[in-house]
Amino acid sequence: MSIQNILFVGLGNMGAPMAANLLKKGYALQVSDLNPDAVSALTKQGALYAADLTQAAAQADAVITMLPAGKHVKSVYLGENGLFGRLKPDTLVIDCSTIAADDARELAAEAQAHRLRFLEAPVSGGISGAAAGTLSFMIGGSGADFQTAKPLLESMGKNIFHAGGSGAGQTAKICNNMLLSILMTGTAEALALGIKNGLDPKVLSGIMAASSGGNWVLDRYNPYPGVIPESPASKGYRNGFMSALMLKDLDLALDNARTVGLAAPMGENARALYLNMKARGLLDSDFSAVMKLYTDIVK
Ligand code: NAD
Repeated sequence: MSIQNILFVGLGNMGAPMAANLLKKGYALQVSDLNPDAVSALTKQGALYAADLTQAAAQADAVITMLPAGKHVKSVYLGENGLFGRLKPDTLVIDCSTIAADDARELAAEAQAHRLRFLEAPVSGGISGAAAGTLSFMIGGSGADFQTAKPLLESMGKNIFHAGGSGAGQTAKICNNMLLSILMTGTAEALALGIKNGLDPKVLSGIMAASSGGNWVLDRYNPYPGVIPESPASKGYRNGFMSALMLKDLDLALDNARTVGLAAPMGENARALYLNMKARGLLDSDFSAVMKLYTDIVK
């Protein structure tokens, strides 16, 4: 099956650079977002605005969604006006949002009932990975659909993993993000301890990055302003991975842990810190703004 025409819905921090990479690879894109500014940024790069979703759906060989949470994804696909009822049979539907594994399984079953092919494909790599086209994709769905989607996903990512059947991709994603939240909160705490003792955050970060505490956050996403010039921390904690989305992912991970009977104290601690951020009105900031909980260190 050759895919040329793609309908891309959700042009936020992640979706916009992902869509831009598809355009660069020569795909024909129709795009949609609730935010007109997000749409016009993409039409300036060569995409068409999918003003009429029914028409855009009829023309699409594939649909990609990159939306905040399960309720948004369901509202786009399901129900009387949902895309599932408007797409041609056999269309490949790829949802890249991070949502509950149960929601992904429900969407896969509904897609099958409409004779569509559905893959969940949550990503890792952040906005820098989205811009560079180096995202990791964690796919849940059939092996045949995975093979069809792979060339398309390789236009936006470097590592394309088939995690297993429906739900497996989302499960891999919440395991990864629970670990990421633990790495972020732990790294912020270690930096705060060093800075309280008079160490330079850049020097301390360099030491820990090259030592046994080294991790992805220290290498690519340092939560202290100015250590990595291009990190959200250096840009007022804007335009990254919103703390609200990390809290959503921790809720998904911990709900799942309860379902399978796993105690997850490290994840619970990280969640408590993000709830603290919520109480301080910081949920719109990047998730590295957890550094602001050390109030005498970062204001
Ligand atoms: P975002 O809030 O920046 O973007 C979401 C976009 O969806 C917004 O532009 C919004 O207007 C649009 N939208 C919402 N409902 C819509 C609808 N019904 N129709 C059309 N557009 C609609 O979020 P993001 O940071 O791009 O994250 C998207 C998903 O990717 C989330 O599930 C998140 O957990 C996941 N994710 C984000 C990152 C990151 O670093 N930001 C990394 C990995 C995974």
